[in-house]
Amino acid sequence: MAFTNKKIIAGNWKMNGLKRDSWQLINDLLSKYETPDEKHNFEMIVCPPSTLLSEVVSMTEGSPIRVGAQNCSDKLNGAYTGEISPVMIKDIGANFVILGHSERRSYFKESNADVASKAELAIEQGLTPIICIGETLEQKENGSALAVIEDQFMNSIPSNATTENVIVAYEPVWAIGTGRSATTQDIIDVITKIREVSEKKFGLRDVSVLYGGSVKSSNADEIFAISDVDGVLVGGASLKADEFWKIAEASEK
Ligand code: PEP
Repeated sequence: MAFTNKKIIAGNWKMNGLKRDSWQLINDLLSKYETPDEKHNFEMIVCPPSTLLSEVVSMTEGSPIRVGAQNCSDKLNGAYTGEISPVMIKDIGANFVILGHSERRSYFKESNADVASKAELAIEQGLTPIICIGETLEQKENGSALAVIEDQFMNSIPSNATTENVIVAYEPVWAIGTGRSATTQDIIDVITKIREVSEKKFGLRDVSVLYGGSVKSSNADEIFAISDVDGVLVGGASLKADEFWKIAEASEK
């Protein structure tokens, strides 16, 4: 079984947002739900910067909006100045953590092994990691994209992962923040590959797989038309309540 049967609409705020922005954005999103228990066929997750996690958890308490962090340590506690432990994230009341985002892989030199050890501890502490994998433009152009995806999947997903306690996000690096989304065929090819390697690793094909990379309300219909896409990881467009909500609504069409 996958993590959820609903479509997952996750927003990565990256290093954006002050207190007043988060109040505005969360209030605007909450006001889109007519009642707190209104039924939707999507699960909305917002991932603010760590300075706003506590604030956003309080604001969304009792609402359908769920909260995640954008990174965590692979250590539980101790002398690791500046790091944030998964147990601290859980303690705040967040339930998810994005790991292995391409910005962390490239700017902070996180390897597959680093991602796997963070994810292992996150799972142990009861967080659901959203583990990002994706090829660079160079890898796409030299034909190694599917091999890169297989390698990242096999080596970034820890041994305590199951299809129920992790979410995988396919995020081609060349599509992140560029306005250039992957084509339907690109997405189908990679998700088919991910399901193949998931079967190899977990004996199951139905791990939840999100697509991320320049998702907007104008291309959301096309992305959700791909039956194998279990949801989206949205960067820039998740900072605008109307846009993010329209993307979520597209998942219900
Ligand atoms: C992301 O940062 O995960 C992302 C997909 O960004 P954007 O939607 O802005 O391309």
